[in-house]
Parts: sequence; structure tokens; C-alpha cells
Amino acid sequence: MDVRRRPANPILREKADAGEQLIKPHKSHQHQQQHPPMKASDALPLPLHLTNGLFFTIFFSVMYFLLSRWREKIRNSIPLHVVTLSELVAVLSLIASVIYLLGFFGIGFVQTLISRPNPDGWDVEDENTEQFLLQEDSRSGTCTTLGCAVPPPPVPSAKGLPKISQPAAKAAMAVEKPAPLITPQDSEEDEEIIKSVVSGKIPSYSLESKLGDCKKAAGIRREALQRITGKSLEGLPLEGFDYESILGQCCEMPVGYVQLPVGIAGPLLLDGREYMVPMATTEGCLVASTNRGCKAIMASGGATSMLLRDGMTRAPVVRFATAKRAAELKFFVEEPMNFETLSVVFNKSSRFARLQSIQCAIAGKNLYMRFSCSTGDAMGMNMVSKGVQNVLDYLQTDFPDMDVIGLSGNFCADKKPAAVNWIEGRGKSVVCEAIIKEEIVKKVLKTEVAALVELNMLKNLTGSAMAGSLGGFNAHASNIVSAVYIATGQDPAQNVESSHCITMMEAVNDGKDLHVSVSMPSIEVGTVGGGTKLASQSACLNLLRVKGANKEEAGANARLLATVVAGSVLAGELSLMSAISAGQLVSSHMKYNRSSKDVTKVAS
Ligand code: ADP
Repeated sequence: MDVRRRPANPILREKADAGEQLIKPHKSHQHQQQHPPMKASDALPLPLHLTNGLFFTIFFSVMYFLLSRWREKIRNSIPLHVVTLSELVAVLSLIASVIYLLGFFGIGFVQTLISRPNPDGWDVEDENTEQFLLQEDSRSGTCTTLGCAVPPPPVPSAKGLPKISQPAAKAAMAVEKPAPLITPQDSEEDEEIIKSVVSGKIPSYSLESKLGDCKKAAGIRREALQRITGKSLEGLPLEGFDYESILGQCCEMPVGYVQLPVGIAGPLLLDGREYMVPMATTEGCLVASTNRGCKAIMASGGATSMLLRDGMTRAPVVRFATAKRAAELKFFVEEPMNFETLSVVFNKSSRFARLQSIQCAIAGKNLYMRFSCSTGDAMGMNMVSKGVQNVLDYLQTDFPDMDVIGLSGNFCADKKPAAVNWIEGRGKSVVCEAIIKEEIVKKVLKTEVAALVELNMLKNLTGSAMAGSLGGFNAHASNIVSAVYIATGQDPAQNVESSHCITMMEAVNDGKDLHVSVSMPSIEVGTVGGGTKLASQSACLNLLRVKGANKEEAGANARLLATVVAGSVLAGELSLMSAISAGQLVSSHMKYNRSSKDVTKVAS
């Protein structure tokens, strides 16, 4: 047993005073707290002090009586062993009182030794308990600081709700005490529902349909989640969001929403029009840097963009018994006459879906058919998938031995880095360029044309080649793509291929000015569907004048948005590359990524 002297723990004492049960007390301590130990005196008919007084009186009275009798016998020469009845009773009383008093003082002394509070911090049992808890905590991978022990991760139940034992949930609650959102006083009915969700009687996912009130469903789910996990969701807002707007299309089982700041870069002068670009980000420096790039583009007369291609893709994988049969289907779909027929079948899926091509690739007896189609103002993943399903159903009559393995066979390729997107394009393929004048490079970007050209060659081209990059021949296209995507309700996971970009820089006009361009083959954006219709995202699209479906020309809004994304990337590339070539990268990040109260000073 490790018995070490240690000072009394003020933190533990404080927490114990506050009623927090941080350390499970040793059983005997607990027992003592709840039921103080029985003493012998508890069995006496009179209070202890009265009993003690009585026995002391008897003891001294009897002693006095016997001593006086003893003196009398000596005086009268009576033998001492001749005892009267009264003397006998007195002797017995004396023995009884001596036994009582000896017993009282003896036991009392031992009891005092045992129960005396430990004044100088020798507490062997407590220390062992702490050691045990520390070991438990480290085994379960939780925080090992006493006071923040958390319950083990909940085990998902069959009904989709994590199961956790009630005592564990209670213990966790004692640690963090999340503020209840719905108290029993608010509504007994709500409290019952919360309890049912916690116990798993009501599946969390069914709350919306059961209650018919999305906001209430989110509130109840949130409260149940807090109770189940013992973790507070304070800071994750519930109020101020339209939960009806996401039902069945954007997010399941909501418990709140994450707040993100939206900054504005611009105006971006692109194709003769000015755009204020919304960027949702928590990366300091990003908006400021893109804004500086916009300033340089504006001061140089603006940027120009060209949309090269517009087609969303989906590639199912089908299998045959032989490679020969797979090849026969490949030739069938590539035959122009057949393609016409398949287009009609495909286009039935939507008035906006128009089949453009079917690109085939064979792997043994498996065939991958990459369907590409225009999708109007929608990003188009659902639309193209529906069209592909129609075609597969149709092909099954001519190719009954075709086994459809998957509607998506990863030759599409969605949300994964793939050369096929980089080479063939996916969504909108855009090239955007600008000529930045020499004096703007110097005054606004604080660098030199030659330095930028050299850096671009060695970093974005050679460096990325050395890294074996796939579509990553740029400085930070994904920074701008992600921020604009989140602000405008695009699918942020498509940032993977949407950020494919090659940035080129060249000295022009006798080496004085800078020609800069970004080529982005797979920008996947839409202005209808998905998250674009949510209030905040819709407001950002509105700011760019691309909200919703374009009434005059289907797809014009989505295409315009793609060019704005490319233009913003151009601005971002210019500014970051300039900062790096001027050696300002670290210093500017120190300014913008560190808290500074006076933002106007660092921005100037
Ligand atoms: P996605 O295909 O991008 O996943 P959806 O499945 O929501 O998006 O499809 C877009 C929906 O919007 C379709 O039902 C389509 O008919 C409708 N829609 C309305 N106007 C347009 C438009 N201009 N372009 C594309 N789709 C549109």
C-alpha cells in the first residue's frame, strides 16, 4: 500500500462542499455519511451525560460509605472480613460502577482514535480511490483530470439512438450540468417525449413526423441529446432557424445550426460587371487577401472569363459474363443512332436534363459508362442520376444479361480526386484571365512581375509536379472555392474536384505587365436545389444576382456563378502569390490570424 503524506486537496474539498460528487466515496465512508455508526451509549435508557453522572455519584458514594465502615471497624476492633449485607451491596455497586466507568473511558478513547478527522492529510483510502479513477480514465481514453471524467461513448441502439445506462447519464450530468431547454415545468407532455427519446421508446428520427412541428422536434431532440451524452450544447443555437426549410432535403435530425461569419470580397470586376463576393470562412486573412486581389484586378481593368463546358456526370458500373459482351454494349451506346435514342430516354427524367455524351471505359467484363448532361441551374447530381436510371432500365431489354452493379461506379467521379475530372471536366469548366499592370503589381500587390512569374513556375507548376499533384497546380484555390460554396449553399464536399485549378503567370507587354489565368475544369455549382434555397445561402446568391432559376435562359445563373467562383479564385491566387513572393505570408497571417482589437489598423 502506497501511503504518502500529502497536503489536503483544496479543489476536491471545494467541489465536495459545492455538492459535486467527483470521486465515488469508499463504501464505508459513504455508509458512514448516510448512517452514522451505532455506539454502545445508544442502547442506554438515559442520555449519556446523565448515565455518566449517575455512575460517578454511585462510585463516590459507595467509596465514601465503605471507607467510613472500614475506619469504624478498625476503631471498634471488628475483623474486616466480617461483612454486613449493606457492605456487600456497596461492594457490588462499586464493582459495577468501576466496570462501567472503565468500559466507557476505554471504548470512548478507542472510538476517538478511529473517528478523529484526519487533520494533516493522511488519507490512504481516498488516495487509492483517486488512483483507481485515474487508471480507469486513462484506459477509456478520456480526460484524466479529476473532475472531467466522462461516461464511455454511447453504444448505438437498433433504433438509431445511442443507448446509455441511466446511472452513467446521471453521472455525466453531474459533471457538466447542461442547461435544460425544456423543463418539466414548461410542458409535462414535452418532458414525457424527451424521456421516451432518451429511453429509446421514440426514435429520434421520427420526432418531426410525430409532432408535426420541426422546431419543437429539434428542441426535444436536442434536450434528449444533452441528457443522453451529459454534454451541454450551449453555444450551438436552436432559435433563429427555419427547421421546416431543411425537412426532407437538407439535414436530418437537426439539433441546432452552426454559425459561420460571412465576409465580403470585392467588387470583383468580371466580364464588365461588378460582384461583391460572399465568403463564409473562419480562416483569418482569406477574405482580406481575396479582397486585395479584387482590388488589383479592378485597378487593371477587370478580368475576363470563358465557360468552356457545362455537364454533370454520373457513371454506373455494369457487369457481363464476358468482356466481349461488355465491349458490345460499349459499341452500342457509342453508335450515333443509338445515342439519339438513349438521349430521348435520358431526357425524360427532367425538362432541364439534356444528355451530351456517354464515355465508356472497360475493366475486363465490367463496363463503366460516364453519362454527361446539362442540368439547367441545378448542380445536377439528382437529375443526372434519374436520367441514368432510365437508360439502364431501357438497355436491359436489349442486354438482358447486363448486371447493374451500381448506379455510381466511381468513374463519375464525385467528391474524390480523379484524373477523369481534371482531364474531361465535370460540372462547369471555366478559364478566367486578367492582365495586371506593372504599377498595380508594385503598389497594390507589393511585388514584382518577374518575381511572381518565377514563383508561379517553381511553386504552382514545378512544385506541384514534384508532389505528384492531381489538379493542384495552384496556390490555394480550394480556400476560395470552399468559402464561396458554403456561403452560397453549394455542396462543400465537391470542393475536392471543384478546386482543381492550374494557375498560369506570364510577363506580357514587353515583360512589364502580368498575365494571370486560372483554368478550372470541374466547378460544380447550382442556384436551385440543395442548400441554395435556405434563407442565408439564398441571400448570398441574391447578392451575386444569381438567386434561383434563370427565367430567360435555363442554366444561365449557375454558369454565371461558376465564372464568379473562377474570378474569385483568380483574385485569391494573385494576392497569396504576391504575399509569398514579397515574403509577407507569415507577417500577414500574424496580423489577420491573431486577435487584434483594432481591425481598421491591420486592414489599412
Ligand atoms: P440537383 O439535381 O442539383 O441535385 P435537384 O434534385 O433539387 O438538384 O433538381 C433541381 C430541381 O429544380 C428539379 O426538380 C428541377 O425541375 C427544378 N428546377 C426548376 N428550375 C430549374 C432550372 N432553371 N434549372 C434546373 N432545375 C430547375
